[in-house]
Amino acid sequence: STGDSGNGKAGWWCRRSSSPSSSSTASSSTPSRTFETRDPRTGDVLAHIAEADKADVDIAVKAAREAFEHGKWPRMSGYERSRVMNKLADLVEQHADELAALDGADAGKLLTLGKIIDMPAAAQMLRYYAGAADKIHGESLRVAGKYQGYTLKEPIGVVGVIIPWNFPTMMFFLKVSPALAAGCTVVVKPAEQTPLSALYYAHLAKLAGVPDGVINVVPGFGPTAGAALSSHMDVDSIAFTGSAEIGRTIMESAARSNLKNVSLELGGKSPMIVFDDADVDMAVSLSTLAVFFNKGEICVAGSRVYVQEGIYDEFVKKAVEAAKNWKVGDPFDAATNMGPQVDKVQFERVLKYIEIGKNEGATLLTGGKPTGDKGYYIEPTIFVDVKEDMTIAQEEIFGPVMSLMKFKTVEEAIEKANCTKYGLAAGIVTKNLNIANMVSRSVRAGTVWVNCYFAFDPDAPFGGFKMSGFGRDQGMVAIDKYLQVKSVITAV
Ligand code: NAD
Repeated sequence: STGDSGNGKAGWWCRRSSSPSSSSTASSSTPSRTFETRDPRTGDVLAHIAEADKADVDIAVKAAREAFEHGKWPRMSGYERSRVMNKLADLVEQHADELAALDGADAGKLLTLGKIIDMPAAAQMLRYYAGAADKIHGESLRVAGKYQGYTLKEPIGVVGVIIPWNFPTMMFFLKVSPALAAGCTVVVKPAEQTPLSALYYAHLAKLAGVPDGVINVVPGFGPTAGAALSSHMDVDSIAFTGSAEIGRTIMESAARSNLKNVSLELGGKSPMIVFDDADVDMAVSLSTLAVFFNKGEICVAGSRVYVQEGIYDEFVKKAVEAAKNWKVGDPFDAATNMGPQVDKVQFERVLKYIEIGKNEGATLLTGGKPTGDKGYYIEPTIFVDVKEDMTIAQEEIFGPVMSLMKFKTVEEAIEKANCTKYGLAAGIVTKNLNIANMVSRSVRAGTVWVNCYFAFDPDAPFGGFKMSGFGRDQGMVAIDKYLQVKSVITAV
């Protein structure tokens, strides 16, 4: 049994008496105010973007509601939806160069990696969920007595998507792809620092044949556009990625409005645990990648590195050399390893944490300063003599700052790794399978990478334990966030 009738006559949407007359996308409305998005390479204004406020969010939600209640998208067969999603994936691939340039200019992301990682991964995400769109089905039930029963899986409705700036493209498609496969309509609020590619995706969606009103983009600020979306009475679910602090605010808004469904992918302070038997060169290269990749602006950054005492001194020496070899510079230059922090606020925030680290008694071994004559560049930074209770070992810095610590036993490593309010990811470097398995099971984190880091796949569920949030992106399990399960019991 499936929630997807495919005949245009399914009846689950008949819950409202009034509906707006238009199904145009919100991006076609023209708010009078604009805001600036800036180039982090220089701090200069890159573009003026129409700023959505509460009234614009209302228009977007109305369009999404209309498309959900009366439009084609939820009523198409899964196969038809998958064809459109595959077409959108083709367009993302065809426009990979422009899209990587947009994210490069808006977020300071490396152009080369945008082309070879972010854009192909976004297309892959779309195709993965396109493949799932015609496989969403309920199940038959064993109901006692003279009854028969089955479940239907129906799209949850209008989904508000609120995302951060560090991976503008991946964040967009992590949420939008399974929502589209499920038959939902979406209103996306990109981060105010990086609205450009999301607007381009709205345009590509139209070219791909996504009906009007199905994908709406409302660029604007968190306390205005974001808050209007999360407190909206006509939004059925919020899929959020961002900080724990704002995750809490979003839950409060959802609770105070219509008790909408919420999923939260929040921050992290992930441990990288390196055992004595590791190949030190490999461990150093994984650990530096884990914290310096994307300038440390990544929720799963392996920012706490625990190294077993036998190789600690060698590891520290090599890690410092490796950090000095990370080339910081223009993200449009193919030789660059690390671009600028996303904006002035983030730049100053990271430098503040470095000062706190020094003041609390950690030893700065390398980096710790801005670099370049303009823009928001920071040197790859390594601290040693870090204690578990120091601010730099507890708070998410979201910048290129590694805290290096020593441990003796496996038990001590596990205890230290878990000494955080977060639980998003962990890395383990060892040749010992027993240790790898034991630590993988004992670390309280949603993803554990053994002898690798950042190994993402659309099929691998991704999300947090503890204050890193709840709900999962990626994997078939993510579609459930965008579905309702209905039981149908019939007397026989
Ligand atoms: P943020 O929480 O400040 O903002 C995230 C989004 O929420 C933005 O679009 C912002 O405009 C919006 N927002 C802000 N205030 C709001 C409000 N009152 N109501 C509704 N929306 C509001 O986070 P950020 O600085 O953009 O991103 C960095 C954070 O995101 C870090 O904590 C990082 O770990 C986290 N993150 C988590 C994941 C994950 O998958 N777990 C991935 C990437 C980033």
